[in-house]
Amino acid sequence: MTLAIGVDVGGTKVAAGVVDEDGQIIAKLKRSTPAASPARTEQAIADAVTELLASCQGQVTAIGIGAAGFVDSARATILFAPNLAWRDEPLKQRVEERLGREVVVENDANASAWAEARFGAARGYRDLMLVALGTGIGAAILIGGELYRGRWGMAGEPGHIRVVPEGRLCGCGNRGCWEQYCSGNALVAEAREFARRTPEGAMRLLQLGGGVPEGISGPVITRAATEGDPAALRCFQIVGGWLGQGLADLAAILDPACFVIGGGVSEAGDLLLDPARAAFERALTGRGRRPLAEIRVAQLGEDAGIVGAADLARVSSQAAPIQSTAAARQTTALQTTAPSSSSGPPEPGSFIRSTSMANPATNAATAQNAAIPDTDQPAAVATTR
Ligand SMILES: [Zn+2]
Repeated sequence: MTLAIGVDVGGTKVAAGVVDEDGQIIAKLKRSTPAASPARTEQAIADAVTELLASCQGQVTAIGIGAAGFVDSARATILFAPNLAWRDEPLKQRVEERLGREVVVENDANASAWAEARFGAARGYRDLMLVALGTGIGAAILIGGELYRGRWGMAGEPGHIRVVPEGRLCGCGNRGCWEQYCSGNALVAEAREFARRTPEGAMRLLQLGGGVPEGISGPVITRAATEGDPAALRCFQIVGGWLGQGLADLAAILDPACFVIGGGVSEAGDLLLDPARAAFERALTGRGRRPLAEIRVAQLGEDAGIVGAADLARVSSQAAPIQSTAAARQTTALQTTAPSSSSGPPEPGSFIRSTSMANPATNAATAQNAAIPDTDQPAAVATTR
């Protein structure tokens, strides 16, 4: 039995765990994130790993980090992290320098999706999408059992698809983004607005929220909806409706077998998923003449990031010799200059040059590209195809 360590780095906490081959966490710890300082955040990661390594001497074969930010396609640099101070931060190199060991870096939503596909709600599925509803929308795509990261590592950001022309202002600077209508924040905004406009209809919500609209939180809405409160149920109907419509749009592009819905809002279960499924079926292109993708609640909760980061690192370490950090840096440097070519077609010369220079890392990345084995495809899916 080999063990791997997974670290989930968010804006408020660093959570790390020792994970076995079956995705079980056998030791775990949590620290608050010194988010304002890149160096202190990296030290917190290294300290957590060191502490776990000491507890299971010699048995850990791989270390993975799932980070809440845009991870470049070499999986070495965090280009941008909305809730951390990382800007073009060479996270892989900095943590490896502190630990003296190889680490694998992955986007946190990708790590969670991997965990759900290997050990959780989407076990056995090879074409799936994770959509996590929290502050905004976190998402990840698996195609044919492999994570799809895109050319620059930034695939899977459907929260910023515009669903309402000139709609609500989004943190990204645009208007009408999906996550402004379909997220934990959107659910809370809906309930507070309703309570302000129609306090007599929102008595239970206001009561649980301490008497003021601002006191209404996600857990308050979930509790009231569970009790059958019409105002709270209406909020889930609205957000669930936006969710189902958005999933239908995503199915038009990706045709996945399964959507896994995660994040705090998903704890409401069918209160959210029933309206989502209804809206999905109404909006789906070719409805009635195609199999319907499963829409399921994530199973691994807040542990998904730890389990996924650890398992990705373990699978990567078995697949191939790990790339040198020098090669990773070289690729990163090339890719941070490459976006200038997005204003027009890349020059053939520069393209060839970057391909050949990136070769060592590209080979390693391909070898590291872990895939879900095509073994236990669920019977329900097999029969519908
Ligand atoms: Zn946006």
